[in-house]
Amino acid sequence: MKRFALLILSAMVLMAPIAGCSTNPATGEKQLNWLSVEKEKSLGAEASPKFVKQYGGDVPSPQILAYVNDIGQRLAAVSERPDLEWEFHVVDSAVINAFALPGGKVFVTRGLMEKLDSEAQLAGVLGHEVGHVTAEHIGQQMTRAIIITGIGVGVGIAGEQSDDDWMTVLGVGTSVGGGLYMLSYGRNQETQSDELGVRYMTRLGYNPIAQVQVMKVLKEASGGGGGAGTEFLATHPYPDTRIKHLNKLIREKYPDYKDKQKYRVYRDRYRRTALKGFKNLPPPEHDPENKPPKPNDAGQPYR
Ligand SMILES: [Zn+2]
Repeated sequence: MKRFALLILSAMVLMAPIAGCSTNPATGEKQLNWLSVEKEKSLGAEASPKFVKQYGGDVPSPQILAYVNDIGQRLAAVSERPDLEWEFHVVDSAVINAFALPGGKVFVTRGLMEKLDSEAQLAGVLGHEVGHVTAEHIGQQMTRAIIITGIGVGVGIAGEQSDDDWMTVLGVGTSVGGGLYMLSYGRNQETQSDELGVRYMTRLGYNPIAQVQVMKVLKEASGGGGGAGTEFLATHPYPDTRIKHLNKLIREKYPDYKDKQKYRVYRDRYRRTALKGFKNLPPPEHDPENKPPKPNDAGQPYR
């Protein structure tokens, strides 16, 4: 019985490329992605406000929101998918994480931003998430989930999934220990997004070394597990592999990264606008360590 199911599964995976295979504009790779651009956009628009709410809403500071959105929009504008309806949110959560929904909806938590120390580092985080969107990792992971879980009628055929099927998949595997997790990515996808993040941030003149600093900050924040940074590492695994890969990439592709005229970090501006701004706000609205979410809030918010 099990073997039979496996046979069907592998047959579907083998047949699938005929239906949903395309070449990605950012990576130049062939990929299996059944999530159409139209679906991607509508799904992102529907899920984004729910997601913001789940994470304590946008931080109550128009200045910080405008500052982060401006950096994000500039990164998106130099990416391979400038025409999506990009949104960049700072959610009022103590959790340390950043994530992207389909269609160019990107989120960074206040908890993560408070750990950073320069605008270039923030650009690295946002650029990495933009990379997940431009490389269409989300659609690929969701397609995999559709195939593996067998969710939806007409499973195994591209375009047969309903909006509800996609929303379900967006929620599948996202709930661990009562917290909310996005679909996690594979090792190659993470290093690919790091690389794309560096591509976009350097196009805007940010120093790529800041991307390595971000990885180190996050590794430290998770401090042997149980720390607030654990969530980021759960959704963005392989920090050591990624640091190694980034160091190599920067030395090979950006050998002049020490050139302070060419690559900037904007530390003062970040401290003045973001870090000082957070100090003037009440504590984060969403803080699972101090205030466990209500039973209804935990689990699968998308269903
Ligand atoms: Zn990632």
